Amino acid sequence: AITLQGVRKSFGDNAVLKGIDLTVEPGQVVCLIGPSGSGKSTVLRCVNMLETPDEGTIVVDGSEITDPDVDIDGVRRRIGLVFQQFNLFPHLTVLRNCTIAQERVLHRGRAEAKRVALANLRKVGLADRGDAMPAQLSGGQQQRVAIARALSMDPRLMLFDEPTSALDPELVGDVLAVMRGLADAGMTMLVVTHEMAFARDVADVVAFMDGGVIVEQGPAAEVIEHPRNARTREFLKRVL
Ligand code: ATP
Ligand code: MG
Repeated sequence: AITLQGVRKSFGDNAVLKGIDLTVEPGQVVCLIGPSGSGKSTVLRCVNMLETPDEGTIVVDGSEITDPDVDIDGVRRRIGLVFQQFNLFPHLTVLRNCTIAQERVLHRGRAEAKRVALANLRKVGLADRGDAMPAQLSGGQQQRVAIARALSMDPRLMLFDEPTSALDPELVGDVLAVMRGLADAGMTMLVVTHEMAFARDVADVVAFMDGGVIVEQGPAAEVIEHPRNARTREFLKRVL
């Protein structure tokens, strides 16, 4: 689970998060939507402690990461991250991309790391591309490798920041299908996305952010099909 309470973050005099309360229960998918600059990525970055909140508490999988004494590397290891840019190691094969952190961070042996990597490459439909170099794959395939790589670390939860935004439209569906499979398998997921159909169909909860606050949150279908807030309605009118 992920719980944020009263999270505030400013950059200089730019108050970017103005008191965020958000919970992702185990096995839930929560989608964060909202206009550019509303603070969505900053929320994810706080959950992974790439940014330190100025105020508030964040509990990830039972650890209060805003406690200065927490073993932050230990907590980070339990979080899988997938960004818009896939950030694969360009000089390593697909398979090696999926094994290197298992060996170096989790101290798994080569054979076990390979077995885990292949199982996850199979999940994303790329078990036969282990020997390829990232540049030989399409953007959608590379993003699926990035997901397999994250899964190979046995994360307790996954954070996605616009994982399909950099993809050609015809490649988006395969990546969303993989994410849907993960959701169906019970993965806890916090997803920033502009894919409203995905949010409506897959998310348990949708939270709409604007200007550093969560303006509205609730069951996905309700927020997307019957938004109560005028700003949510305005945003959805523009993106749907
Ligand atoms: P987008 O949809 O464009 O990705 P977003 O909702 O993810 O937008 P954030 O990236 O969280 O928005 O940014 C929110 C605000 O915080 C923006 O005004 C941005 O300029 C500012 N900001 C984010 N990170 C930093 C930083 N490291 N230093 C200074 N300002 C930052
Ligand atoms: Mg962003």
